Amino acid sequence: MSKSLQAIRGMNDILPEQTPLWRYFEGTVARLLDNYGYKQIRMPIVEFTELFKRSIGEVTDIVEKEMYTFDDRNGDSLTLRPEGTAACVRAVLEHGLTGGGQPQKLWYIGPMFRHERPQKGRYRQFHQIGLEVFNLDGPDIDAELIVLTWRLWGMLGIRDAVKLELNSLGTSESRGRYREALVEFLSAHLDKLDEDSRRRLKTNPLRVLDTKNAETQAVLVDAPKMADYLDDESRIHFEGLKARLDAAGIPYVINPKLVRGLDYYSKTVFEWVTDKLGAQGTVCAGGRYDGLVEQMGGKPTSGVGFAMGIERLILLLETLEQVPEEISRQVDVYFCAFGEAAELAALALSEKLRDQLPNLRLQVNAGAGSFKSQFKKADKSGALYALILGDDELAQQVVSFKPLRGQGEQQSIAFDALAAHLATCIVQG
Ligand code: ATP
Ligand code: MG
Repeated sequence: MSKSLQAIRGMNDILPEQTPLWRYFEGTVARLLDNYGYKQIRMPIVEFTELFKRSIGEVTDIVEKEMYTFDDRNGDSLTLRPEGTAACVRAVLEHGLTGGGQPQKLWYIGPMFRHERPQKGRYRQFHQIGLEVFNLDGPDIDAELIVLTWRLWGMLGIRDAVKLELNSLGTSESRGRYREALVEFLSAHLDKLDEDSRRRLKTNPLRVLDTKNAETQAVLVDAPKMADYLDDESRIHFEGLKARLDAAGIPYVINPKLVRGLDYYSKTVFEWVTDKLGAQGTVCAGGRYDGLVEQMGGKPTSGVGFAMGIERLILLLETLEQVPEEISRQVDVYFCAFGEAAELAALALSEKLRDQLPNLRLQVNAGAGSFKSQFKKADKSGALYALILGDDELAQQVVSFKPLRGQGEQQSIAFDALAAHLATCIVQG
């Protein structure tokens, strides 16, 4: 196929054999979030470029080099969203969802776009599920975000493979004092810093902390620590969060170098990381962003949220073999019919069954075919049972009911009794 007719590098089709796992994952998360009282919001995939520049920060990897930005036909600069928080805050402000200071607990799901180097667990179109909470400024809600992800890892069977890393970036005042101390320290070691870090020292010094460069990392061992610069407000908040995690029995490690890639974080930042996926080990990341709403033109409004990477979590489920077997079976019953008269009767009967058993997953053979070929298709469909209707059965108004996975003998069942019989055989999801 010519290159221009292929998918764009780093943008993946999710094929039919993979979608059951995606739907299982997304369904599990959606149910969990419903149960915790979060409401779903859906934002457009494209926004004005300015929105991301303003919220994410000009001196971040995303805005500097990862955005898909283009001019539309009116000459407006638009960008495919690289993350969800900016658009969510925009929507909240635009529709006055937090206007009276009322709390909002929101979540979203969808594709995000970043022009990065594609590799395992890193793509140019990827998917996130994100949560954002507004107007709740205590450590209790930070703890809830972490507690509910911990529950999710439990439901998915991946709890043992993920580790929580935690840090506090303090209020903007304490972060300001820390930044000064860090700049002073790093400036004294300028010759040992990599080029990126030297540049960041001038533009966004905290980002030097998450450098991947080994020599710069060695310098950082003796660098001042944010923890020593936290003011009382930040310290009390952080202690409150840790006390809640302890009470909930959730293990964590404090990582003083955890600063997160985006500019807008304050106080709590956290990441769930795994060592099972190689370099792309962060599966969920977030933190508090109390200044962001005001920075975007709203009233002072506290905010806290996170986003999880669906591709990485799907990879983790596969790697740990935590894919429930039943999710890939999409057919309960396969209906084989032989001859025109039987086909007509099978159609009518199937529709009646669907009326009577609305959750029945029934596949009717299409394209006719010999006994052998229909049976092969029935087996391949993964169905538990086959229904067989030929001229003989039709004459007696019965169907042959044949278990395909070794659950008992074939038997004849009257048309009228079929729904009741299926109801006893098939556990309805
Ligand atoms: P990383 O350090 O891996 O680049 P990030 O800090 O840029 O991650 P966030 O902006 O915090 O990531 O996004 C939250 C989550 O979304 C990440 O923890 C990850 O699971 C997922 N994610 C981010 N970028 C990608 C990508 N390019 N491909 C797949 N998943 C991604
Ligand atoms: Mg990134």
